[in-house]
Amino acid sequence: MENSDSFLNTLFYRMNCPSVDDLGEYAAGIMTDKTLYIYIHSHVRKCTDCQAEVASWDAFDAATGW
Ligand SMILES: [Zn+2]
Repeated sequence: MENSDSFLNTLFYRMNCPSVDDLGEYAAGIMTDKTLYIYIHSHVRKCTDCQAEVASWDAFDAATGW
């Protein structure tokens, strides 16, 4: 039961997550929409899924030398 609950919670939270494209812009620091930036910034602080997404973008940036 515990597993299915956390699965449902993950689905629920993912519905409120910014798109991968937006997260990529946020992680790359090229986001021009300040309102969207602030929204994503506050979202990422409490969403471990998006923290992982942003971390993977950081790793990508490091790998490509951006
Ligand atoms: Zn999220």
